[in-house]
Amino acid sequence: MHSNTFDTIVIGAGSAGCVVAARLAQAGNSVALVEAGQSDVGQADMLDLSRWKNLVGTQHDYNYEIAPQPRSNSDFNHTRGKMLGGTSSINTCVAFITPDHDLSHWVSLGASGWSPQECAPAFAKLRETVHFEQSERNNAFHTDVIAAAQQVGLAQQVFNAPAPSGNGIGWLDFNKKGTQRQSASVAYLHPLTQWGERLTVLTNTQATQLLFASNGTASGVRTNKGELFAKQGVVLACGAFATPKLLLLSGIGPQADLDAHGIPVRLDLAGVGKHLLDHPESGLAWETVSQIPQVDLNNMGLAFFANTPTGSTAPAVMGHIGTAVFDGHTTPKGYPSAANGFTININVARARSEGTVRLRSADPSAAPHIDFQYFTDPYDEETLLAGMEFARRLVQQAPLQRWVKRELFPGSAITTREQLSRYARQVSGTVYHPAGTCKMGAADDASAVVDSKLRVQGIPNLRIADASIFPSMVGVNPNITCMMIGERCAEFILADTRH
Ligand SMILES: Cc1cc2nc3c(=O)[nH]c(=O)nc-3n(C[C@H](O)[C@H](O)[C@H](O)COP(=O)(O)OP(=O)(O)OC[C@H]3O[C@@H](n4cnc5c(N)ncnc54)[C@H](O)[C@@H]3O)c2cc1C
Repeated sequence: MHSNTFDTIVIGAGSAGCVVAARLAQAGNSVALVEAGQSDVGQADMLDLSRWKNLVGTQHDYNYEIAPQPRSNSDFNHTRGKMLGGTSSINTCVAFITPDHDLSHWVSLGASGWSPQECAPAFAKLRETVHFEQSERNNAFHTDVIAAAQQVGLAQQVFNAPAPSGNGIGWLDFNKKGTQRQSASVAYLHPLTQWGERLTVLTNTQATQLLFASNGTASGVRTNKGELFAKQGVVLACGAFATPKLLLLSGIGPQADLDAHGIPVRLDLAGVGKHLLDHPESGLAWETVSQIPQVDLNNMGLAFFANTPTGSTAPAVMGHIGTAVFDGHTTPKGYPSAANGFTININVARARSEGTVRLRSADPSAAPHIDFQYFTDPYDEETLLAGMEFARRLVQQAPLQRWVKRELFPGSAITTREQLSRYARQVSGTVYHPAGTCKMGAADDASAVVDSKLRVQGIPNLRIADASIFPSMVGVNPNITCMMIGERCAEFILADTRH
């Protein structure tokens, strides 16, 4: 039996939540880590990176439906991990330190204290804890991709030394050891011997509502297994869909959204569930004259950043090179596929379209209503189109042409810019990076949900640590950024305690 009162309660054991809980427990706080899913300990499907697809669509995946999209494909769901490690236990472990450009942009949006220099100590602690490995390099196809990229102006880059900057192509790093993922759970929770003492991990426990003291401070959480109480504070780390959902269920959010479900308003906070961001992407694929040598766990070894259309101060698109034909979105729309081939997935690295997360009902078991509004900002459509054109130009270079038999999709019939843009949005998907739904901003920014110390506006002992606090989309895969946010959150809580 454990007590139901702790110094701090962390809700959600995902990429950021595991980090906050582990760091606080290491510093001597008593912590409850509340997780809706099950433990990953000893679970090969969750620990072995090559098996991630086995988890998609199972009870370990929230598998959220999205609202029909007026300007793009909407025939896909959003995978989110439901287990210790959260989405870091179901992702593909591509590891990127956050580019300086993005952190500086966050500061300009009101997140004071988040400059590259101020985040560097958190990244340093993270790098001591999370093991990164580079993808294998002895692949003749990849060598030719790099040569072709150099012919279209992309220099070879070492991405995490210390962070990707500007245009370039490089080998991906993965947060893994061999075939074993270094999820937030594996890297931060598993090594802690004090489980059950300072750190109480409560799996299969779903938070349904936050609890508050009579003075308005956060005092605990109601779960499907009873109530838990916090002497110091509560950290919400449920991710970009479930964190705004739990705030709304607790009466914190835009008044109209709460009124619509008869939820008494505790705090009318306009930004909750607004500003939903993502990395929309679309793919092009080519059949090859021979099989491409396979070296990577997930058919991915290289990525590039390109500043197309020109004029922006940071790369506008990111490309992932796949050593297989990724035809999940194209086959249903009638495009051909092949056994031997490669794919270039282009994503809008700093996409600007903003969607919403709202409640469907006041029932905590109901999934939220998720509407991305993909490509409603013209910048995203223009950028994706420029990225698709760039990918075609890359493949036209001699080092890659010796591999190519034919373009599978979009295919030679798609020639004009209008056709290419229509195709790109017809088969578009996501890199599964939802963010921004409780954004961080200056204390006087009415659209911000948390201040630059991650405190919910008006409730200083309630913090948020997950992808929902992104003030803007980062131009890389964001898992390591989420872990860094966890490091910073623990740092802020411990600083408060010291004072
Ligand atoms: C298929 C896929 C591949 C990806 N690949 C990569 C990649 O290669 N590299 C990369 O950088 N990023 C990748 N990502 C994205 C990245 O993993 C996420 O951005 C990141 O994990 C988000 O972290 P988070 O802390 O915001 O939330 P999460 O890690 O999603 O954690 C939220 C946690 O809260 C729990 N929770 C939710 N609601 C409740 C509740 N009411 N009560 C209790 N617990 C609750 C959840 O079960 C979950 O454990 C990928 C994502 C997907 C889906």
